[in-house]
Amino acid sequence: MTPVFIVLNAGSSSLKFQIFEAANDADPGVIFRGLFEGLGSTAHFVVKDRAGKTLDETSWPAAEKLGHEGAITHLVSWLRTQREGRKLVAVGHRVVHGGEAFTGPVLIDDSVLSALEGLIPLAPLHQPHNLAPIKIIRRQLPAMPQIACFDTAFHQTQPDVATLFAIPRDMRDRGVRRYGFHGLSYEYIASTLATYDRRFAAGRVIVAHLGNGASLCALNKGVSIATTMGFSALDGLPMGTRCGAIDAGAVFYMLREMKLTPAEAENILYTKSGLLGVSALSNDMRTLRANAANNVDARRAIDLFVYRITREIGSMIAALGGLDGLVFTGGIGENDVLTRAEVIAALSWAGVTLDEAANMAGGPLISTRADITAWVIPTNEEVVIARQMRSIMGSASQPAS
Ligand code: ADP
Repeated sequence: MTPVFIVLNAGSSSLKFQIFEAANDADPGVIFRGLFEGLGSTAHFVVKDRAGKTLDETSWPAAEKLGHEGAITHLVSWLRTQREGRKLVAVGHRVVHGGEAFTGPVLIDDSVLSALEGLIPLAPLHQPHNLAPIKIIRRQLPAMPQIACFDTAFHQTQPDVATLFAIPRDMRDRGVRRYGFHGLSYEYIASTLATYDRRFAAGRVIVAHLGNGASLCALNKGVSIATTMGFSALDGLPMGTRCGAIDAGAVFYMLREMKLTPAEAENILYTKSGLLGVSALSNDMRTLRANAANNVDARRAIDLFVYRITREIGSMIAALGGLDGLVFTGGIGENDVLTRAEVIAALSWAGVTLDEAANMAGGPLISTRADITAWVIPTNEEVVIARQMRSIMGSASQPAS
């Protein structure tokens, strides 16, 4: 029997999944990948093989409201149709917040689950959705091992000073501190740097994860020493719909003078801000680029995005005490030639140089100078989860002899 893992990444109305062959030699190998969308309305399921060929697709009418529960039932029964000597041995989950307690992946039991529920107030818009499938699988498949892998864990190596807000100490003791997110993505990039350039992997590297969510991480010898997201995934760079760093005084003004409720302010800062808010057009970089020549607000949104990235990179260079290289990843980092070119142009003072042809071709190496390099490296958060699952499952992830 070939042991397989399911890796789940659950959002409010979506469920992304990948199914891995656990015991593949170097890395767990993906067999199927797919997603459910519209879980609260008209749900749609699609699954593809490793080559990207669609294997199956299903839609449900709005009246049916599939929800996470129905999605998991459907996924598990679909997987049964693909048995062919495969055995599901564990389910892994991307969980946004591990707080101070979880510094690495963990096998979920009653006490872990209640600790993770206790972290919901730290990430109220993400954590409940990440935990929903865990609870459903505990009901549907009570004996199935489940493993939580955290977006915060990779940043536990930050020096204490990088985790502090200048607020009273008892607030810090109660968890009001900088955590950092996108850790599964940064762990993947850190693990793969040496395959591109060994000297660079051992040096001072800034990774720009630029997707709908966006952040930077300063890696010193592959270890996180600073990151732009802080207490929540709202901090740092402007994102698709999130504002990024904002003066706390502006939030008090919104509450007190503009009479917004906390929930209204939160909704604006998480879902109506960022590229969408500034452009009043779209959160999607492709749409903004297509309109930038004729639409002043689309151009402004892009300019702000690039400006904030380059300013924060300056701050990361200071934290690292210099720079050996820069990595672009995430949907924008991997695909948007112009964002990479504009960021690198603004960093000429730091010695970063652009190889235009290589940038157009998508890299991986997109700089001309050999001592300060720039790269495009696709991220893979799911394979990091599968690796972490294998480390926890040990011999259970090997084929029975
Ligand atoms: P998430 O954070 O939701 O995983 P992604 O990493 O998929 O998001 O990134 C989504 C962003 O990537 C969107 O702004 C989208 O416009 C951008 N993007 C994807 N493909 C391209 C492309 N070819 N050119 C420019 N931007 C792109």
